[in-house]
Amino acid sequence: MTDTARLIRGARINGGEPADILIRGGVVAAVGTGLDPGGAEVHDAAGLIALPGLVDLHTHLREPGREDAETVASGSRAAAAGGYTAVHAMANTDPVADTAGVVEQVWRLGREAGHCDVQPVGAVTRGLAGVQLAELGAMADSAARVRVFSDDGMCVSDPLLMRRALEYVKAFGGVVAQHAQDPRLTEGAQLNEGAVSDRLGLAGWPAVAEEAVIARDCLLTEHVGSRLHVCHVSTKGSVQILRWAKSRGCDVTAEVTPHHLLLTDDLAEGYDPIYKVNPPLRTAEDVRALREGLADGTIDCVATDHAPHPIEAKETEWATAAMGMTGLETALSVVQHTMVDTGLLDWAQVADRMSAAPARIGRLAGHGRPIAPGEPANVTLYDADTARDVDPAAMVSKSTNTPYRGMRLPGRVVATFLRGAPTVLEGKIQ
Ligand SMILES: [Zn+2]
Repeated sequence: MTDTARLIRGARINGGEPADILIRGGVVAAVGTGLDPGGAEVHDAAGLIALPGLVDLHTHLREPGREDAETVASGSRAAAAGGYTAVHAMANTDPVADTAGVVEQVWRLGREAGHCDVQPVGAVTRGLAGVQLAELGAMADSAARVRVFSDDGMCVSDPLLMRRALEYVKAFGGVVAQHAQDPRLTEGAQLNEGAVSDRLGLAGWPAVAEEAVIARDCLLTEHVGSRLHVCHVSTKGSVQILRWAKSRGCDVTAEVTPHHLLLTDDLAEGYDPIYKVNPPLRTAEDVRALREGLADGTIDCVATDHAPHPIEAKETEWATAAMGMTGLETALSVVQHTMVDTGLLDWAQVADRMSAAPARIGRLAGHGRPIAPGEPANVTLYDADTARDVDPAAMVSKSTNTPYRGMRLPGRVVATFLRGAPTVLEGKIQ
């Protein structure tokens, strides 16, 4: 399939003027107007936006161990449906991805499925237990070439262990992606600590539990001259700390999820656990600060934190429900809604925040590159001028715990090309 020559006709690259994109041998052969197809298969993309294939730094694919919620195959297919050509698969599987053997298994399953590139994240500590470093070097040297290390789901709260991890990954250009959550300050926490948690009688999850860890880690990173990435930033204070750290020259990057750009803690009023997530939904003031931070580059990228759960784990009481929501198939629409339609980002900046920046942070070769001659043909075609009512039953993911069900969201991914081969191709442009 990769060898089929294709001419994508009249697409607006990063929202610019219509242009043709000629793909041959898996790479972009030419970009221009009125290109001669010369036997290539032609796709009429008039009115569609072409973006470099999206890259997710933070996906939970659940395999090995929780194949009832998602598999590498189903999750990577959901990613392609959402316009992604590469995803980073988080390490909190069962067994944990803390050895070369497990990361190679995940990497191989991704290649076999072929929907998008699946880049495993390695655990920072053995079994995510926060006591001993995992085999970081062996995972880096493995066939999976791990560069991102994270105990996501758990915080590396021991400062000495965090320091050692930051020092260790320097040898191979790695990055430690921290799930910033002080465990003592969030024991039993259920919802953002504030007026809503007070009213509902749910144990509060204070912003400071996130902010204190981010501040500490920025200082640690600076001290040892390493590279830190902060997962799913969710508070205004976190954005302020990151802005300060970057102004000091600290080598820190950060991500925000689509749901933290849109949803607020008052959605918990109905005690519907579909809105239960880690970190929790925050206030409208936090949402504003996160959007501003993403717009001005304080927050580098959007990451989905796609967290599929089986129905029984979510359709239960708030206190016992699992934390997390799916996100791969709605991310671009939510970003359009919150950032583009509000005038905060243009499409070229969306390409940066959802493709170039995450690829750069993850040191992922062949992704996040501009749609230009000689580059790998990883391309997403997106119709921004349509809208859809989110239907969980129509999702590709094995799980249906989307907080957007029934919500009208703008836009739709029409096609995704991975090195020139379509992983998604809607009928209308075939
Ligand atoms: Zn997390």
